[in-house]
Amino acid sequence: MNDFLTHYCERCEKHVLGHGDLDADDLLFYKCLDCGTKIQKKSEKSLISPDEIQKMGYHLGIKEESSAKKGCRGGACGVKQL
Ligand SMILES: [Zn+2]
Repeated sequence: MNDFLTHYCERCEKHVLGHGDLDADDLLFYKCLDCGTKIQKKSEKSLISPDEIQKMGYHLGIKEESSAKKGCRGGACGVKQL
């Protein structure tokens, strides 16, 4: 899994995940996923591994499968691997 881009949110006073949005001029900007505040363009950014993201309190919905032989998504796709 790829690293996640985080932004520094001045309101939360910590690095947070952002979600992209378009402003009135169709320019991409990010909002804090926690509080919805617009992230300033000059804000500090960093790439964080999925492990670290979960330590920050975000839940990624990753399921740890004990058996890797069930096909993708734990067999939910219906493809059985032998
Ligand atoms: Zn925030």
